[in-house]
Amino acid sequence: MSISPLMPVYPRCGVRPVKGEHCHLIDEDGTRYLDFASGIAVNLLGHSHKGLIGAIQKQAETLMHVSNLYGSPQGEELAQRLVDKTFADTVFFTNSGAEAVECAIKTARAYHQHEDGDSNRTELITFTNAFHGRTMATISASNQEKMHKGFYPMLAGFQYAEFDNLDSAKALLSDKTAGFLVEPIQGEGGIRPASDAFIQGLKALCEEHDLMLVFDEVQCGVARTGKLYAYEHYGVEPDIMASAKGLGGGFPVGACLATEKAARGMGFGTHGSTYGGNPLAMAAGVAVMDAVANDEFLAEVTEKGERLRSRLEQFIGNYPDLFDFVRGKGLMLGLRMKVESRPFFVHLRDNHQLLTVAAGDQTLRVLPPLVADDAEFDEFMEKLSAGAASFDPGA
Ligand SMILES: *Cc1c(COP(=O)(O)O)cnc(C)c1O
Repeated sequence: MSISPLMPVYPRCGVRPVKGEHCHLIDEDGTRYLDFASGIAVNLLGHSHKGLIGAIQKQAETLMHVSNLYGSPQGEELAQRLVDKTFADTVFFTNSGAEAVECAIKTARAYHQHEDGDSNRTELITFTNAFHGRTMATISASNQEKMHKGFYPMLAGFQYAEFDNLDSAKALLSDKTAGFLVEPIQGEGGIRPASDAFIQGLKALCEEHDLMLVFDEVQCGVARTGKLYAYEHYGVEPDIMASAKGLGGGFPVGACLATEKAARGMGFGTHGSTYGGNPLAMAAGVAVMDAVANDEFLAEVTEKGERLRSRLEQFIGNYPDLFDFVRGKGLMLGLRMKVESRPFFVHLRDNHQLLTVAAGDQTLRVLPPLVADDAEFDEFMEKLSAGAASFDPGA
């Protein structure tokens, strides 16, 4: 047998973390890494956060899982918090981001296939370089060939327009269009915030043609950008939104949020999940919301983001051949490089014990836990500077 017991779909590196402490990961052999990847925008509260651990421990001792056939006081509590703090009136809980996007796609289609709708409207317009997950529907929603290869046929009902180009979206509008599915800030695509005009233009088209505006905030949501959800930066509310990653702070929790109107097709028996919304996941979500869904915390994220950004902007001036510019919002930052970002990300990891994430468009993603403190930001800048000084892009 030559295949590894873990199906070899990830090119796993030699870092093998066994323990986390605040913004650090400790490897099997004791090496300490500064974790400014946060499990890809998941560990908002860092590692080993007392409040989150306490909430999970308490719930695990009380009740871990029951069927969605029963009433859910725990689910109602987290759903109510999300409803109170967002555009949404109702929430479906999932175990991952892709499942949250799946539910969002079904909700958008069901809106039009409702008895008051126009059942010809089955197509969602999605955008170039998007990432929505790895299920069949969510890879079909992305134009990225590398995710399709080997898995044909793709699911019908997706049209790809150019990201951040309103005319390109308009050109695809037809009497089959159900709505738009978009990341307000592309994550995997390279920390690319959509412009205000683009997002506001999509909203206007949705209002004009009775279409669903669906935001995928799996990566940019849950306080990452200094707002609870990134749509708040744009002054535009979606009809449907997928959330996950940070929502459980490290425990798997996803959610599809919708307005009452947008959810009109999602009646009894239309959707489900065995694990979705289990009491343990809900306890984790409530603990995260307790920590982040308040003005003080969000203002701190904004302030930390501004300080980190200005330090990064100053720093890249020293390496004009290596770096192009800094982009992103809050603590969702990207360093656009003039060379491929992956070799630099590997160099930082292996030679400077600094964890970041490579992304599309030659971008290095900087996604610290939102609780990172001054000493950890200083350590980050030191490692990054040392890494840039010792990096040979030709090697
Ligand atoms: C990570 C991600 C997903 C998929 O989430 P999973 O939990 O891996 O299924 C979907 N959309 C965006 C924008 C993401 O960043």
